[in-house]
Amino acid sequence: MAHTILTINAGSSSLKFALFAGNGERLHKGAFEIGALSHDDAMRELLAQITSLGLPAFTAAGHRVVHGGQHFTSPVRVNDDILTALEKLTPLAPLHQPHNLHPITALKKLMPNLPQVACFDTAFHATQSATTRRYALPRALEAEGVKRYGFHGLSYEYIAQKLAQLDPAAADRRVIVAHLGNGASLCAMRHGKSIDTTLGFSALDGLVMGTRCGTLDPEIVLYLQREKGMSIETIEDLLYRRSGLLGVSGISSDMRELQASEETSAKEAVELFVFRAVREMGALIASLGGLDDLVFTAGIGEHSATIRSQISKGIGWLGASIDEAANLRATTVINTEESAVNLWMIPTDEEAMIARHTAAVIA
Ligand code: AMP
Repeated sequence: MAHTILTINAGSSSLKFALFAGNGERLHKGAFEIGALSHDDAMRELLAQITSLGLPAFTAAGHRVVHGGQHFTSPVRVNDDILTALEKLTPLAPLHQPHNLHPITALKKLMPNLPQVACFDTAFHATQSATTRRYALPRALEAEGVKRYGFHGLSYEYIAQKLAQLDPAAADRRVIVAHLGNGASLCAMRHGKSIDTTLGFSALDGLVMGTRCGTLDPEIVLYLQREKGMSIETIEDLLYRRSGLLGVSGISSDMRELQASEETSAKEAVELFVFRAVREMGALIASLGGLDDLVFTAGIGEHSATIRSQISKGIGWLGASIDEAANLRATTVINTEESAVNLWMIPTDEEAMIARHTAAVIA
């Protein structure tokens, strides 16, 4: 039987959902602001919306769950034991995991027999080597889970599949995908699998993000506590919500606003975003032993020709050469014919990936 699948991507401020037919076609999508609405209410609203629009009833639900920890390295059908195990991972992603799990519980109350599948943002990176995932900390910490996990896995997996469709030979080349959105990271891929990524233990590492700091000298955290007497909560707020593009510009976390601004601090924030993306790319190019393909995706990667151009120029030393006209038109292929690196712009679709996984798990 072909299932109709509901996908849910729930965060701290919004709950995005979509409905997919058995053939993968997207029938509907929507979003709720959480805060004004509880997860339980959002779920009831969602069911009412689907009914009132005359859409087919869904027969399974797939959820984006940020953390799969050390054990969940592929999507899984959720039962009570699994839900308990996923709740136990909350210390690894305290700001995200509870929001991801609430809709599972809420939906279970309303539709106890509905098959529900958890799809993890960490799972795609499970193919990385132990060395890649290790921090140079005492071993006991690694055993309890202090290691590099990486995120944006559903986006990377979608792009890996899409790239293989567009150019089957690409899978055998050295590929970097730049997921540049409000959250941002890079993933180095070989044979369609993750071999390195810029996010690590948490969603704070690597690139400059909308409001998150990216790579930081850990001593800064000690300094903030020791010299400024900041509490854990204050530091968490500073690193997750007041840093990144917002912190540096003092204006906005939104790349559009910064690019439109004449303020020096806005220009400096954009400059740092590009500088750090290129610098981190250098590290991943070394992990891959070179670079054949670079894919831009997510909000900034899909919509900002300027950022694509600046980052591509940052790897001009590798022979990357962007076709500015194609880049402005935002075609799929944006490199010149002479370019030593294939440059791509491919829109991501995490919800489609969740739907595919959910269909496969319940089949
Ligand atoms: P996402 O998290 O993938 O939805 O991406 C959100 C980011 O994409 C925000 O920083 C937006 O400012 C940025 N974005 C969306 N559209 C544009 C655009 N046309 N130009 C520059 N940035 C954009």
